[in-house]
Amino acid sequence: MNQYKEIADRIKVADAVLIGASNGLSIAEGYNIFANDERFSEYFADFQRKYGFRSLLQGIFSNFTSEGERWSYFSRMAYHYSFHTKPSELMQALHELVKDKRHFLVTSNTDDHFAMAGFDRKNIFELEGNMGEIQCANGCHDTTYFSRDVIHAMLEHEEGMNIPEQYLPKCRKCGGAMQPHIQIDTNFVYDRIWRERNRDYQSFIETFHGKHLLILEFGIGARNQMIKAPFMKLAYSEPEAFYITFNKGEVYIPEQIAEKSMGVDGDLAVIIPEILKEYRQAV
Ligand SMILES: [Zn+2]
Repeated sequence: MNQYKEIADRIKVADAVLIGASNGLSIAEGYNIFANDERFSEYFADFQRKYGFRSLLQGIFSNFTSEGERWSYFSRMAYHYSFHTKPSELMQALHELVKDKRHFLVTSNTDDHFAMAGFDRKNIFELEGNMGEIQCANGCHDTTYFSRDVIHAMLEHEEGMNIPEQYLPKCRKCGGAMQPHIQIDTNFVYDRIWRERNRDYQSFIETFHGKHLLILEFGIGARNQMIKAPFMKLAYSEPEAFYITFNKGEVYIPEQIAEKSMGVDGDLAVIIPEILKEYRQAV
């Protein structure tokens, strides 16, 4: 039996599907925050020249000369990596594969691409936040705010690598600066939604205890402690669970769960639509 058909069949018979995803999935979609690629050069050439940034990520963690410059960087990031993107074929295929099943998704991706492809936000736990939201940079209170309008206004009035003062978002409580709700520093806030989804994640696992739980893991590094380690532990402790890890060039399955696991190496942009083809043909 071919591997994609086996995966399609496993999705069909599963009671529920738990999905974990990290950067590898975004990279397969064409959004690589680690690379000095065409997309990054197209929108950040001036920042590359001034600071020598070689990736989007490098800029995220750097010190800018002013708040206006910092927001010039972050508003472009939110716009070009999230708000202004279209759902990829790969993400839509993934949604179609699980939409008729109970499913839950845990991700460190902050680009909101799952929701854009049709996944219900109630089923998405964004561990490291969402670049389309903002929070107090001091972390003085734990509310997050949607930033679409603020971001659009900033980009409309951007002057070179600067956002004029009057368009910079300010904290409603302390009056200080705001920043994207992503894990830039220790001020990252665990807001109400974050805490709710964390509970939902635990209760999803409890609900399907002892059932045929299919665990799908996409593009997560072998040493990832936030998603991969708990998933492998779950695969080990749940008698009826089955674990499938998809990773380009870095498939890792520990000995203890080898019998109830499968590793798939290759390009997710090709693999996921192939699985969907098999899924549609399966009876
Ligand atoms: Zn504040």
